[in-house]
Amino acid sequence: MNLLILLPLAVMLSRDIPPPSYSFIPEDYVSISTQFLQGKGAPVDTIDVNDSNLQIVLRDDNTWYYIKNIKKVEASSVFVENWVENNLTPYKDVKLEDLGYRNSICLIDSVSKFACPYSTKVYSKFGYRHGRRHQGVDLPLKVGTPVACAFDGRVRVSMYSRGYGNMVVVRHENGLETFYGHLSKRNVKPGDWVRAGDVIGLGGSTGRSSGPHLHFEVRYKGFAFDPQWIIDFEAGELRKNVFVLRRSYLDASSRYIPESIQEEEDVYLTDEQIIAEEMRIAAEKAAEKWHTVKSGETISGIAAKYGKNQSTIKKLNPGLNVNKIRIGQKIRVN
Ligand SMILES: [Zn+2]
Repeated sequence: MNLLILLPLAVMLSRDIPPPSYSFIPEDYVSISTQFLQGKGAPVDTIDVNDSNLQIVLRDDNTWYYIKNIKKVEASSVFVENWVENNLTPYKDVKLEDLGYRNSICLIDSVSKFACPYSTKVYSKFGYRHGRRHQGVDLPLKVGTPVACAFDGRVRVSMYSRGYGNMVVVRHENGLETFYGHLSKRNVKPGDWVRAGDVIGLGGSTGRSSGPHLHFEVRYKGFAFDPQWIIDFEAGELRKNVFVLRRSYLDASSRYIPESIQEEEDVYLTDEQIIAEEMRIAAEKAAEKWHTVKSGETISGIAAKYGKNQSTIKKLNPGLNVNKIRIGQKIRVN
């Protein structure tokens, strides 16, 4: 057929086709995010993809987007296994050695989005702080400031705890859990389904807190890692869509390394390369020695006990105030 015949046909078709309806989109499927929707065309078809929770919607302007089966996501084993409401440590049987050297975690896809819980400069970092373990980051804020849920998920904990004060824990589809502590008010209850950006509570200073701030943690199967690996809190942005969580990041003294080019390269490294590096880090870690301060001890005394001088101890313990050590404090001595 030539164009002259086709043209009237096209005009006729465009006139006679009723306005597109969304009715072919299967029940239970929703498109979650509009941030990836570039085109404006009407949906014309859906196609299946490998992931049975997802489908692709094609539009008449040749654009496409994903839709997600929320019912299936909600039935996922992530929200069943080790699911204990109002309990801070539900992963009793998971040992660090059980977790892979390299865990690829999808943070957002085209149907989910990210919201920064609260955007500001990190006041207190992850790791050891004056010899005391700090499993998250502290973000100073005014009492009553809305605190946003970082990713879609389900509330597992909403309770008052002595240390964290009013705190909320949300589990996400990728297995990560985010912790929000010291809130002045909690807006959610265990079992609630929440979306990224939902205000799960208001900032405050409840629990063991020296002033109004949000204590924010990210844990993977019960093990915390530095949230700064995935979130740039000052910019309020997610650093990447897919995060390679190395086992060494789950060490309580490990910290985000800003200059590290490995964050960009991790995705492309082979498993063997990652394992080799992780083994080296583990060996270094194994060679570390720690001393717990007892009554009456001084830094010079502790140093002498391990055949070190005071300056070596200072180097091994950045930020240590040698004149102000406490009983029970952990001091690295090798
Ligand atoms: Zn904190």
